[in-house]
Amino acid sequence: MSDELMNVLGIDIGGTKIAVCLADSQGHVLASQRLASGATAPYEQVLPQIIGQARQLMVETGLANSIAACGICAPGPLDMVGGRIMKSPNMAWDAVPIRDDLAKALELPVYMDNDANAGVLAELFFGCAKGKKDVIYLTMSTGVGGGIIANGRLVTGVSGIGGELGHLVLDVNGPICGCGQLGCLEAYCGGRNVALRLQDALRYRQDHALMRLPEVDGKLENLNFQTVREGAKLGIPLAVAMWDEICMRLAQGIGLCMVTFNPEMIILGTAAYYAGDFMLQPVLAHLPKFAWKEFRSACEVCITVLGPKVGELAGASVALNGLAESGKLQL
Ligand SMILES: [Zn+2]
Repeated sequence: MSDELMNVLGIDIGGTKIAVCLADSQGHVLASQRLASGATAPYEQVLPQIIGQARQLMVETGLANSIAACGICAPGPLDMVGGRIMKSPNMAWDAVPIRDDLAKALELPVYMDNDANAGVLAELFFGCAKGKKDVIYLTMSTGVGGGIIANGRLVTGVSGIGGELGHLVLDVNGPICGCGQLGCLEAYCGGRNVALRLQDALRYRQDHALMRLPEVDGKLENLNFQTVREGAKLGIPLAVAMWDEICMRLAQGIGLCMVTFNPEMIILGTAAYYAGDFMLQPVLAHLPKFAWKEFRSACEVCITVLGPKVGELAGASVALNGLAESGKLQL
C-alpha cells in the first residue's frame, strides 16, 4: 500500500438495505449512513436517495473535494461490462445502469463488483491478506461465493464472471443447485440448499431430535444451516453426517482452488466465521484427499477476521481496487 492516503466513497447494495460510506485507503470508515430503502424499492426512487446521501456525507465531512473514486458492491448477477445490476430474486431492479448514473451525478470514477469479489478485495486491503499476492476468498451464507486474487490482481475473466467458485461442479449426480446445475459446491454447502435438504429429510419426522431443538420448536421452516451446526455439536447423528459432508465438500472446493491457483492463503467467510474451529478443523482433516502436501504446506487456510465489518468495507474496497487497476493507487 502506498503511504499516500486516499479517500473513497463506498456504496453497498442489498435487497433490504443500502449503505453509503466514506473510507480511506487504510481501512478507516470516516462516515457511514444507511438508507431507509433497499433494492426492493423502484430504482428511480432509490437512485436519488443514494446520490443525496453520498453528497451529504461528502459535505458533512468536508471531504467533497478529496474523494478519489466511488465503488459499488452489489449481489450478482451483474453486467460488468455495461455497469448494470441485473434482475435477481431479492431485488426489484432489472438491468439498471447504476455505475454510469452515479458517475454522472457524483462526477467521480465509479467501479462496481459483486459481494464475493468485494470480499476478497476487503481482505486484501484491510484484512488478513494485506500484502499478499495470491489469495482466494470463499464465503458461505445463503449461497457460496468466491473471489480470486492471482499475482496481485482480481481475476475477472473475459466477461467479468470469473471466480464463481460456488458453482464448481463437484459431482454431476449431486443435489440440484439454485443455478440449475447438479452437484455445485453451493448445492452442498450453501445455506439455502442445506436448509432445503434438511427440511426434506425431516418432513415426516416430527419426533426427530433436531425437530425438538428449542430454536426449531417443531417447525419445519425453522430447520436451517445453523440447525445442522448446532445439532452436530450435540452429536445428533443426522446433523453429524450432514456437517461432515458440508466440511468434506468444502475441502473438495478448497482443494480444487489450491491445485488450480497454488495460493498462499484461502480465507473462509460467513459460515466459517460463526462456526470457527468446529468447521475449520474437519475441513483441514479432509483436505489431504484433494490437494498434495506441496499445495497445502504453501497455503494457509484461515477464517476472515473482518466478520460482519466486511459489508461496510465492501464498496470502499471495490473503489480502491478500481484506483489500483487504473494505476492511481500503488499496492
Ligand atoms: Zn450452481
